[in-house]
Amino acid sequence: MTDVIGIYGASGFGREVLPLVREQYSSVELVFIDDGFQSDNLNGYKVLSFDDFLEVEATSKKLTVAIADSKIREAVTKKCEERNLPIINISASNVVILDEVEIGQGSILCPFVTVTSNVQIGKSFHANIYSYVAHDCVIGDYVTFAPRVHCNGNIHIDDFAYIGTGAVIKQGSPDKPLKIGKGAIVGMGAVVTKDVPAGTIVIGNPAKPLERKS
Ligand code: UDP
Repeated sequence: MTDVIGIYGASGFGREVLPLVREQYSSVELVFIDDGFQSDNLNGYKVLSFDDFLEVEATSKKLTVAIADSKIREAVTKKCEERNLPIINISASNVVILDEVEIGQGSILCPFVTVTSNVQIGKSFHANIYSYVAHDCVIGDYVTFAPRVHCNGNIHIDDFAYIGTGAVIKQGSPDKPLKIGKGAIVGMGAVVTKDVPAGTIVIGNPAKPLERKS
């Protein structure tokens, strides 16, 4: 029997994460876990349903939840926690992390990510390629950064926020951090210069709330 690691999500992000797991863990069997995949093989690896993964005989079983949607990620994470399946932290070999950084369980830090000093990050954080988090940021649970997010110093980002590709968030100050509220969405390329209320979608430069046409 061997140690097995499951990459939950056999879609685009899962295919990007599996090679990082392979690099971080040698001598383990890697499988994709997916509940909606039409084939039993992807990029040369088995694709199992969650139920089939539970049946796999192994010395140990762990997994990473490589699903970008934060609400789905939370549901899948809870399902795995209920089964006492350990959820691991994945970090590309060239990730840079400086001093006094805390990162919760289930993070995925993709290639070229940088987290500088005195940063606190909650559980299940995804930072896609080339993103950075600068000094004194506080990031909640299930936060997702698309590629190349520029998160400058003294920014607080609440749970379930999604920051789109190439967004730039202006730095706050120690007495007045810039705040991005719970479940907010920052559109790709947005330049965020002031607080974003919870549940709001902002786009553009300077970023403004998206006006929905009814
Ligand atoms: N998925 C799953 N179980 C769930 C919800 C989603 O296996 O309860 C899978 C879904 O079948 C899909 C993947 O998760 O293959 C999510 O992929 P998607 O293309 O939506 O986004 P990505 O996270 O790759 O950007």
